[in-house]
Amino acid sequence: MKSLPIEIPTLQNWSCHGCGDCCRGRLLIAVTPEEKSRLEKQKWTDGVDSEDMIVAEGNIFRLGHQSDGACVFLDAAGRCRIHAKFGEEAKPLACRLYPLVIHPAGETVAVGLRFSCPSAAENRGRPLSAQMPEIQKLARLVVPADYDAGSPPPILDAPDGEWPDFLRFVKWLDSSLAPSDVPMALKLLRALHWLAAVEKGMLDQISGAGAEEILAALVKSAANKLPTRPTSPARPSRFGRLFLRLMVFEHARTTRVDNPGGASGRWQRLRAVLCFVRAGGRTPALREGLASVKFSDLEKPFQPLSPAMEALLTRYFRVKIQSLHFCGRAFHDRPLIEGFRSLALLYPVVLWLSRWLAASTGRTEFSEADVARAVSMVDYHHGYSPHLEWRVRLLHQRDDVARWIGWQDR
Ligand code: SF4
Repeated sequence: MKSLPIEIPTLQNWSCHGCGDCCRGRLLIAVTPEEKSRLEKQKWTDGVDSEDMIVAEGNIFRLGHQSDGACVFLDAAGRCRIHAKFGEEAKPLACRLYPLVIHPAGETVAVGLRFSCPSAAENRGRPLSAQMPEIQKLARLVVPADYDAGSPPPILDAPDGEWPDFLRFVKWLDSSLAPSDVPMALKLLRALHWLAAVEKGMLDQISGAGAEEILAALVKSAANKLPTRPTSPARPSRFGRLFLRLMVFEHARTTRVDNPGGASGRWQRLRAVLCFVRAGGRTPALREGLASVKFSDLEKPFQPLSPAMEALLTRYFRVKIQSLHFCGRAFHDRPLIEGFRSLALLYPVVLWLSRWLAASTGRTEFSEADVARAVSMVDYHHGYSPHLEWRVRLLHQRDDVARWIGWQDR
């Protein structure tokens, strides 16, 4: 079969280090009806409870879990029983793919990673670019030979654009975030600035050779207009502060299968939400590593980001952009500009969580490990919140997206 042209982020390494994080109840693994019947034909008896092997929620099926929250197929040594007995190809596609994400991009296929996998966040393992044969095989399963990629996501709101024009915007966004000698906050502010100019000047449909020149000029003008980080950044509005706290809550919580359900689970969640709305006293203790601390301790400026933290955040944002994991089908069908604003908002969320992780153990400075853990938490939820869309629009209308980036960076 003809191989697919694949775009792989060159700056990312990854190999599975078998930590078992993804198989220990943190993820709900959907299985298709075909995969369900394949698993049933494997006639599991030893160590697997065939009654609880697959859970049906209406027409949706997912893998069951053991009483400690681990996947029903995880053995005592932390290995996947399906893999051990029948080989990698016998596993559900979601398990084979994780943490890779594969998105069709016109004539090509864009590949990225979920940073919820600790090895991805820490950049551990072989360069992705050296794993082409394995990725090619998986890409073929996600994108069949007769797949029609259709139109790209709109830049602003005009549908039916052309893929080369859309990918030109993606390339300029990526190059805006690339320089290693510019702080991440400033790179995000500059990118937001030139995208706002595109929106204002209705330049979303520019195409052909002239488009390169226009985008290059807009990117250069943003760099001239914002030569350095804001020295006295404006505080986000009250509304902006409330919505960012709610975003932090949504990205910090766990969606484990063993979370308390029913009325008591809903009450617990409501109490936690109210805590974040009021933000007057202490945060709730939300999960391991995020203890109850004073909200006021998290609002204070922390230390500047180290070069290693800057590099981690640059890699994270660039992988999301290069793999198109911020707009279109991969992100609630949102246009490129709006999807990028949502992505940029993750910067203050990551810093908020890094502070919370540090404050939870009485520290007043966060470490690189805190930032990596915060990125993992955030990316675990990235693309799943159905409420984000209207909130980001309201935040942008009040200039709170840019304000939050500047404020959290102070
Ligand atoms: S979380 Fe990542 S490193 Fe850990 S087992 Fe899963 S894929 Fe492997």
